[in-house]
Amino acid sequence: MPELVDWTDRRGFDSYRASQLAGWFYNRPLTAVDDMHNLPLDLRQALAEDFDVTLPERADCRESSDGTRKLLVGLSDGARVESVLIPRGERLTLCLSTQVGCGMGCTFCATARMGLMRNLEPDEIIGQVLLAREVAGPQPVTNYVFMGMGEPLANYERLVAAIGLMTARWGLGVSPRRITVSTVGLVPALKRLVTDTNVNVAVSLNATRDELRDDIMPVNRRYPIAELLEACRQLDLPRRKRVTFEYVMLAGVNDSDEDADRLVSLFASMAVKLNLIPFNPFEGSLFEAPAPERVDAFQRRMLDRGLHTTVRVSRGRDIAAACGQLAAAGS
Ligand code: SF4
Repeated sequence: MPELVDWTDRRGFDSYRASQLAGWFYNRPLTAVDDMHNLPLDLRQALAEDFDVTLPERADCRESSDGTRKLLVGLSDGARVESVLIPRGERLTLCLSTQVGCGMGCTFCATARMGLMRNLEPDEIIGQVLLAREVAGPQPVTNYVFMGMGEPLANYERLVAAIGLMTARWGLGVSPRRITVSTVGLVPALKRLVTDTNVNVAVSLNATRDELRDDIMPVNRRYPIAELLEACRQLDLPRRKRVTFEYVMLAGVNDSDEDADRLVSLFASMAVKLNLIPFNPFEGSLFEAPAPERVDAFQRRMLDRGLHTTVRVSRGRDIAAACGQLAAAGS
């Protein structure tokens, strides 16, 4: 809200108007400044000159047979990103994008093929939230994950600004405990994130050897596995909060018993949660999904050795909305 207070001061309006504006911006769907009927005309005119209050365009919305909805979000310059609403029981999780495309080049990810086109601005990230809330209707969004298009920490300042708007009481009022940022492991920004916000952290690991991780995640050449894990070990997390590690299972590539054993060794001195994600194929993808029995055996091997391991059930595969499948293909 400080920016809104600055704006009202600059434009010669009473500063109490800032909280009225925040209420309109963050809590009600707006299509035009004239919707703000409790504001005087001169204030609405000033707003119309300085702000675009409309939501991003809902360019497309597809619903999967499992209830997952993929939104294609049209931005003011014509760029498009995807957001995904994933229902599970009482929970409704919103997966958000932070960049148009992505420059990280992970070889198992459809978004990587777009390359990095640009970073999203904080208002474009918030616009996804407001649009998704409108699509969700009466069911409240309960959880927010930054796992959509783009590497969130490669757009650090704007990400943190958006999280600030999401968590502010005068903003969207979301508890940081309900927000998770997933990263490939940009070590310096990862450390800052924990200091600057109180959100949950997920690290996408996907290999147990540098040789393989260099191949499938080029970021590993900058921050190899040992350096990444040491940084995670040093994170100043509140007691009982753990880093989640994600592990996309690629058939015949990283899903052997030896990989499972190496994961157990890598995490021997850390309290972590490991989330296995069987690969979701996309058109032209280089990898295949492991058989369900392989996933079970891999998980069991780690559970037997005391590593807290879950398997993420794929949602929205039939509409290319599952992990690694987002590519803003459009309608
Ligand atoms: S997995 Fe994430 S970081 Fe890697 S290319 Fe895809 S969107 Fe980017």
